[in-house]
Amino acid sequence: MLPRRKTRQIVVGDDRVGRVYIGGDAPIAVQTMTAGYTYDIDACVAEINRYADAGADLVRVAVPERKDTEALKHILPQVKCPVVADVHFHYKRALEAIEAGVHKIRLNPGNINDRDQVNAVIDACKERKIPIRVGVNEGSIIERKDKQRRMEELGKYFAGHKSGHLLAIMIAKLEEYLDIFEAKDFHDVAISAKSMDAALVIDVYTEISKRFDYPLHLGVTHAGPKSTGAIRSIAALSTLIANGIGDTVRISYASDHIDEVKDALEMLYCLGKRERKGIDLIACPTCGRIQVDLFTLVQEVERKLFREVTLPIKVAVMGCIVNGPGEAEGADVAVFAGDRRGIIYVQGERVANVPEEEILDRLLAECKAFEAKVKRGEAKLGEKVVEIIPPDPIGELGSGEAKIKAGLVEQVTIGKS
Ligand code: SF4
Repeated sequence: MLPRRKTRQIVVGDDRVGRVYIGGDAPIAVQTMTAGYTYDIDACVAEINRYADAGADLVRVAVPERKDTEALKHILPQVKCPVVADVHFHYKRALEAIEAGVHKIRLNPGNINDRDQVNAVIDACKERKIPIRVGVNEGSIIERKDKQRRMEELGKYFAGHKSGHLLAIMIAKLEEYLDIFEAKDFHDVAISAKSMDAALVIDVYTEISKRFDYPLHLGVTHAGPKSTGAIRSIAALSTLIANGIGDTVRISYASDHIDEVKDALEMLYCLGKRERKGIDLIACPTCGRIQVDLFTLVQEVERKLFREVTLPIKVAVMGCIVNGPGEAEGADVAVFAGDRRGIIYVQGERVANVPEEEILDRLLAECKAFEAKVKRGEAKLGEKVVEIIPPDPIGELGSGEAKIKAGLVEQVTIGKS
């Protein structure tokens, strides 16, 4: 992992919803966008707050019509996080959204490029100290009428690159647009340059990061359904983040946007870029040694524990005790399946050996009891060794414990000492 690239910092929010810092040394912020109509006030508020509850730091809404910016006046006093107005084609929607008290504006250089109009938005944002994201999208930057000529002209840049002309035009468009902001001495800016091509996204942000010090909003646009969109998005975004690039992320799926928030957060947790909230679940992929219905168990554990446990307890669900202990190293709570039963450990202590049908409830109870102990200051996350008694592979002595007592095998100790 390369060190995070230094960027300017912008602030989004107000006293009521709180402030989100983007860029500089702030944690990488997670955002998403509503899927419903902004003018449907109650539904829009509910949608924004659902994403905020799931961990979104800010939420963007579309404002294609006057009735959407009108609705913002009623939406903004009811939401739990800062709101960004996504403006295309009509610069007046930006002015109306600013007037309504929105916390950030997104402008698309591909469809609002009249200098006077952009200047009017900049002036209004400057007065209210509202940042602007300049967001170019691959699909909206090439004027259809002279597309062929422009593509050929730009082909000479980034020669040898599969999408060199697109890379060139996205960068040129940003440079040209940001000149307007520079001329106004307005630097409360974040930038994005999205494509549905993950490789192009990596290349374009890498080039942009060399040219500008504004915070970067990362995203792969039109990534598709979650099944493929997750791979497309996370391949591009995690590569950039590992290279120190990126200050806020939006993963986009053609499905429930709650998954965008959850997956973006999980990506950042895995990369060590955000402090985990909620359990850290690891599970074995299963193999021919499996001794319980692990897939169902893991699904249930995920569903129940994520809802009922708030501390980042590391929980391991392992299909057997052969390789499970090594793979569960460092877990606070672990269950190892064996012969249609589950052996549960809490920070090294074997606390239960229950039949398969009782594993879920007992594991949940143990996790909640452990969480309560941590909250009372009687235990710490990630502390103490996990000691596992190995199984008796041939069953001659009944249990591993008997073998240890007989001096035939040594006790296995894993985890921190
Ligand atoms: S823990 Fe056991 S069942 Fe799961 S993958 Fe490893 S060896 Fe197979």
